[in-house]
Amino acid sequence: MPRPLFDLPAPPLVPVTGAEAGYPVRRIFCVGRNYAAHAAEMGNEVDREAPFYFTKSAHALCLSGTTIPYPPGTRDCHHEVEFVVALGAPAFRVPQAEAMAVVWGYGCGIDLTRRDLQAQAKDARRPWDLGKDFENAAVIGALTPGAAFGAIADQAIRLTVDGRVVQEARLSEMVWSVPEIIAHLSQFYHLGPGDLIYTGTPAGVGPVVAGNVLRGEIAGLAPLHLTIGAPEPEQGANHAA
Ligand code: MN
Repeated sequence: MPRPLFDLPAPPLVPVTGAEAGYPVRRIFCVGRNYAAHAAEMGNEVDREAPFYFTKSAHALCLSGTTIPYPPGTRDCHHEVEFVVALGAPAFRVPQAEAMAVVWGYGCGIDLTRRDLQAQAKDARRPWDLGKDFENAAVIGALTPGAAFGAIADQAIRLTVDGRVVQEARLSEMVWSVPEIIAHLSQFYHLGPGDLIYTGTPAGVGPVVAGNVLRGEIAGLAPLHLTIGAPEPEQGANHAA
């Protein structure tokens, strides 16, 4: 076997409430349009035939408490607070009735989105990657084991920006439930430990600007904090046209 030419970073670890060990992240799946009021505010209807997904690289993960530079290449970066499911066991073609057995725990997340680039991609019928999958775009708070959280019911989910509530809903408003999502997604992937699923955002998404302090809250989970810093300075000599 050849040796690697260089070492890659270890998988990112998400802190776990009340534990020393962290949850290593392998993949990040995200559900689109999973709250009817958010679909409506984006000018879409909910597709009740099947959920749909996009992905983010594990290297897009950003831990709560971080100050990030305003993301590059966008003038319209949006917050999307989301309930995040962390898997802890293999799941391939798992029936809905057995889907919750593969859940390890839950966290509060933000799906940061370069909305202008996502809109351009939609218009051009191109993939969403530039709009969705970039460094620091998958913000995550400390995870809580499923047993400690209890059943997914009508827990409140909300996001404040500089102390002002901008997104607020209940987990019971999700169009596709967590077992429905796991059962459906596992038709297409061998899901497993280290896989996170961002389950979609409620209405009230909007732009962030440098200096904003975001706080995501889901009842029963650790809150999430994110500060938006100044953009990284442009290097005049080497920016691509
Ligand atoms: Mn989202």
